[in-house]
Amino acid sequence: MTEFDRIRSVVPTGLWIDGAETDALAGGTFTVHDPATGDTLATVADATAADAKRALDSAVAAQSSWAATSPRERAAVLRRAWELLTERTEELALLMTLEMGKTLAESRGEVAYGGEFLRWFSEEAVRIGGRYADAPAGTGRILVKQQPVGPCLAITPWNFPLAMGTRKIGPALAAGCTVIVKPAEDTPLTMLALARVFAEAGLPAGVLSVLPASDAAGVTAPLLADDRLRKVTFTGSTRVGKILLRQAADTVLRTSMELGGNAPFIVFEDADLEQALAGVMLAKMRNGGEACTAANRIYVHNSLRAEFAARLAERMGALRLGPGYAPDTDLGPLINERQRGSVAALVDDAVEAGAVLRTGGKAVDGPGYFFEPTVLDEVPRTARIHREEIFGPVAAIYGFDTEDEVIALANDTEYGLAAYFYTQNLDRALRVSDALEAGMVGVNRGVISDPAAPFGGVKQSGLGSEGGSEGIHEYLDTKYVAFTR
Ligand code: ADP
Repeated sequence: MTEFDRIRSVVPTGLWIDGAETDALAGGTFTVHDPATGDTLATVADATAADAKRALDSAVAAQSSWAATSPRERAAVLRRAWELLTERTEELALLMTLEMGKTLAESRGEVAYGGEFLRWFSEEAVRIGGRYADAPAGTGRILVKQQPVGPCLAITPWNFPLAMGTRKIGPALAAGCTVIVKPAEDTPLTMLALARVFAEAGLPAGVLSVLPASDAAGVTAPLLADDRLRKVTFTGSTRVGKILLRQAADTVLRTSMELGGNAPFIVFEDADLEQALAGVMLAKMRNGGEACTAANRIYVHNSLRAEFAARLAERMGALRLGPGYAPDTDLGPLINERQRGSVAALVDDAVEAGAVLRTGGKAVDGPGYFFEPTVLDEVPRTARIHREEIFGPVAAIYGFDTEDEVIALANDTEYGLAAYFYTQNLDRALRVSDALEAGMVGVNRGVISDPAAPFGGVKQSGLGSEGGSEGIHEYLDTKYVAFTR
């Protein structure tokens, strides 16, 4: 019996449309793999444009009745879904580890983190405010209210198969919107399992659909072109985000974009070195480095750099590689061969440019898509790795001498998602957090994600915020009602 057989019975493998599992109209399927072995895990229905239309028809049909439910009813469904998700932590964590590769501990953490968006937005559903004012000229009354945007399309990535979905579905449902999810082709199973959880939690048919597809654009482009869709919310690469923004222009869709990052992680000369090392292990290695918030450029003051690199290499070199579901594994495989090839190419390019390899550096032979935990020191800033998102277990360290120099370096990128720095000086902490061009800044902290805080980027890292009290407004339109006196 394989690991997957233990949970097979609770995982839908059809499309999820109108509250039930269904085959694709064209009858196609595609396979999902275990990245630790390359073996096939499951065969999943493959949606096409015809299925997308079916899903949108059902979302449109359900939209007005869902919007008309009371905030308390919507909150209750979200709360029940959070409870069910939490009860099923072990099955969902195993499922996520099997299709995505991260360790079971990380997957359990994602069930808790991803679930928290459902609880948080169940609490926000009842706090959608409005405004009343008398017109200054005395001629009328001003009423301002918030209404659901309408049917939304959520396109999600493979790195957090659950949380990137709940971060969109939670606020959308709380606001009164219906949602169609197009999960990543590498990891559709977790989202299908979530759809079933919502059905059991009492979500009416049609409010949530899930469309796994091997041809993403084949499903999403017709939806974006259909003027019954009112919003697209996306997490993924900046490249694909730009394609979606162009398509969204034609129907003037509301958009939320969580795109790529190139996070700086700065260790000033007055940092607590031990704390900074613990922080960089989290900022770099959370999710095996496959996170858009991952520390991509580690700038360490030249007075500390050599010691920092040596101690980080010791910690990284001690990580045990293996399947995420095996006991004692610290680091699982990368998602697929393409991703591993791209990490390897960045490392090779950096070493060729003159970077010093302190540990790791290579792909691991054998089945699965493993890459050694790697530390590169004294990386020349001309190397590609300084500009490009790594998305793997590779720490690239650069030296610097002054605060002004490192702030300029940190900001010299088209991205602006997360940034981290370590200092014991309060003035500097405030000054640097103001100066960094990033949507999120971690001060003496290697993990910043929190369902109660607004997650989002500036520059080419995105548009809008997810989580916090801000997150629900991405799914609400403002309506002004002019009343006579
Ligand atoms: P990554 O580099 O993390 O794989 P992508 O941006 O390629 O990120 O993928 C994120 C999501 O976007 C996935 O669900 C993927 O299927 C989807 N996607 C990829 N290309 C397109 C496209 N042209 N149109 C719509 N969705 C796409």
